[in-house]
Amino acid sequence: MSETYELAVIGAGPAGLEAALVASQAGVKTVVIDCYPQSGGQYFKAMPSGFSVSERNSAEAEGDALAKRLEETSVTRFWDTLVWGVFNDEEKDEGWLLALNGAEAPKEIRARTLILANGAYETPVAFPGWTLPGVISCGATLILVKTQRVAPGKRAIVTGTGPLLFSAAAHLIAAGVEVVAVCENTRLFPKGIMYIPTMLGQWGRLVEGIKYLSTMIKGKTPYKTGWSVIEAQGKEHVEGAIIAKLDNNGVPIPGTEKTVLVDTVVCSFGLTPNTDMARMIGCKLEYKAKKGGWIPVRDETLQTSLDGVYVAGDCGGISGAENSRLEGQIAGTAVSNKTGHMSSQKAEEIYNSLKSPLSQQRRFGRLLGDLFTTKPGLSSLSRDDTIICRCEEITKKEILAAIDAGCESVVWVKRQTRSGMGMCQGRSCHRQVAHLVAQRTGQKLDTLLPDTQRPPERPISLEVLVEVDE
Ligand SMILES: Cc1cc2nc3c(=O)[nH]c(=O)nc-3n(C[C@H](O)[C@H](O)[C@H](O)COP(=O)(O)OP(=O)(O)OC[C@H]3O[C@@H](n4cnc5c(N)ncnc54)[C@H](O)[C@@H]3O)c2cc1C
Repeated sequence: MSETYELAVIGAGPAGLEAALVASQAGVKTVVIDCYPQSGGQYFKAMPSGFSVSERNSAEAEGDALAKRLEETSVTRFWDTLVWGVFNDEEKDEGWLLALNGAEAPKEIRARTLILANGAYETPVAFPGWTLPGVISCGATLILVKTQRVAPGKRAIVTGTGPLLFSAAAHLIAAGVEVVAVCENTRLFPKGIMYIPTMLGQWGRLVEGIKYLSTMIKGKTPYKTGWSVIEAQGKEHVEGAIIAKLDNNGVPIPGTEKTVLVDTVVCSFGLTPNTDMARMIGCKLEYKAKKGGWIPVRDETLQTSLDGVYVAGDCGGISGAENSRLEGQIAGTAVSNKTGHMSSQKAEEIYNSLKSPLSQQRRFGRLLGDLFTTKPGLSSLSRDDTIICRCEEITKKEILAAIDAGCESVVWVKRQTRSGMGMCQGRSCHRQVAHLVAQRTGQKLDTLLPDTQRPPERPISLEVLVEVDE
């Protein structure tokens, strides 16, 4: 018999940790699962076990404190454990069945309610040369530099959009890498000026930003707004990059191209909410471009269209780590109330106390969405021979041929070409295929449904499947 919990939290980033803490403190029998070896998710980025550093930054210290608080509770924790499938047999009324893959975890558990807190991933943009060794995402760069203390190269250029570019550039410079420029796709002025009051309410982030900026100034790194890397060049590895000025839509302006000599191109074109689990179990979705694309529909307690299923943090729309923490607290409170461990009055008091900080963080979320959304014109960077689906090595030409042959949805292109059927299961190419379908057929992006999602959520070995019950 599999163990049954009142609540399963999938993801132990800022949202999942807070949700599990609130629910367990109210007395909810809770399990929290994360496929990383430690809790903390993308923002807190805990050190690998056995690593220690003399100086912890503020995010690391906050993450440590949250993890410690969780250890002091009765919450069951499974790290290094993938939730590869979530199933519900409505006829049996036994709650959700979660299929797990982790050395220390059972093969399956059951849960009456779910909080999906599985975060976001970086939005990839295909440009000529983007699959060359030496082209690396900001997220990967920060993991290498911040948690592993490894520099990805000697001379880098950082490109894309959003505050992660500052963070990546400053960490690279501190690690001894020469950063020749940061190319921010968005022209921040004059539109950015209207967000100054929002930023003044984000004191912690402002201080962090100023710290990064001063590192860039000391490193003599230019911050070029309205620019992007449009091509990475090299035979076996990156040897250089072409940068160009972009128009407001993100299309390169002819005649502005410049070549820079670098061995590393660091990219971050925004974040996409991870809706894998929500799609797998059938939560209703809506398209919100400024929140990162398709996101689950939620009520004010963060419950989705499915009873007892809640979504907290970046997987519900990109708004940053602080917003994720608050959403985790709301979802944890809602589950505590739903499972009878907290009175509605107490829950209401908690929601009211979170209203003001939440609206402040959501203002910050709107700033991110307004200023740093992936530019649609960037999909014009790829050429006919540019690989779009890197797992299955499908080029733009093959995808366009499938669309011209009548595949007018992402799913049909997938069936025809295998794009999205590889290891990353479409996380890397889905958005790019959607843009190509939209452009070629004149459909709107918000009418092009995301891919279907079936278990396993990420690749698992056949051995795991053989061992599980039907
Ligand atoms: C690559 C990347 C780098 C970032 N770097 C920074 C930064 O340096 N500074 C900054 O301010 N913000 C950064 N952000 C943004 C910030 O991390 C987020 O706003 C914040 O972490 C969101 O918190 P969350 O709890 O919603 O999700 P996350 O922190 O992303 O946590 C989600 C967790 O869910 C787990 N998970 C997902 N699917 C499964 C599954 N099927 N089974 C088990 N576990 C699963 C993941 O392993 C992860 O630990 C980054 C975001 C990304 C995507």
